[in-house]
Amino acid sequence: DEAIASPVLGGPGRTADGHRIALLANIGGPTDIGDVEGVGLFRTEFLFLGRKNPPTVEEQRTAYRAVFEPLSGKRVVVRTVDAGSDKPVPFVADEPEPNPALGVRGLRTARRHLGHLHDQLDAIVLAAADTGVELWVMAPMVATAAEAADFAVVARERGIAQVGVMIEIPAAALRAADIASEVDFVSIGTNDLAQFTFAADRELGSLADLLDPWQPALLDLVARTARAARAAGKPVGVCGEAAADPLLAPVLVGLGVDSLSMAPVGAPHVRAALAEHTLDQCREIASAVLAAGSPRGARAAARSVRSVS
Ligand code: PEP
Ligand code: MG
Repeated sequence: DEAIASPVLGGPGRTADGHRIALLANIGGPTDIGDVEGVGLFRTEFLFLGRKNPPTVEEQRTAYRAVFEPLSGKRVVVRTVDAGSDKPVPFVADEPEPNPALGVRGLRTARRHLGHLHDQLDAIVLAAADTGVELWVMAPMVATAAEAADFAVVARERGIAQVGVMIEIPAAALRAADIASEVDFVSIGTNDLAQFTFAADRELGSLADLLDPWQPALLDLVARTARAARAAGKPVGVCGEAAADPLLAPVLVGLGVDSLSMAPVGAPHVRAALAEHTLDQCREIASAVLAAGSPRGARAAARSVRSVS
């Protein structure tokens, strides 16, 4: 109910002047999403990790149905399996790779196993029909517009109306305009985008300074992606960990992002931060942040711009 929506009580995300920003959940299986509006990233790896054989369509349908059931009528962005590297799936790994983070992973596995992608898309569509969720489907680890176009063809053939891709490889961010023209939405994955932009393993705590989402090079790529998607009239979200930082959320909104997806526990803080700034203030903060030359400078710039409260 719009009337009781407030930063404290939950409800939709809004800037102080009422611009809607969807607050969504990152999930990895059946879970309570709390008071957010839907799911912005459903990681489907839980069904695949460590398996020697692919799950059948019926097995997948049952598993997705269990996730979708409490989400009827809500947006659920399902990501097709992101096999590889930090998410090992033996049945897609034909041979060991020297650099799994840079290997045949994510959407690339469909080059060898198109049937697996078909099965997963079919199971997702069936489970969505069973439960009445508002289904959006996106592919991980997309590098080029051609890959985005190929995925869109396959997904639309299987009956998916909202087809998107993740922007988490710098090549994709640099050519986000081309990619946005091929799909219905894009979602920026800042975890891998930081890893690949800085050539810094996302699992190494000792490189946390490089993986900092306030790094100017990362924010440049986010800004570029958001601008391209908006110019194409396509929704653009952020679903990496960066979306849960309440100081960064107004920056992302100022850059043009229209949804933020995070672990549900972070949503109240982000909702409160958005409610403190008008859209113009978010833009002002974003410009100040982009002008900074370091993560520390970027944070300082974000703190120095006034808010309505
Ligand atoms: C990301 O890379 O930012 C992302 C959201 O996906 P994952 O963390 O599952 O790789
Ligand atoms: Mg990723």
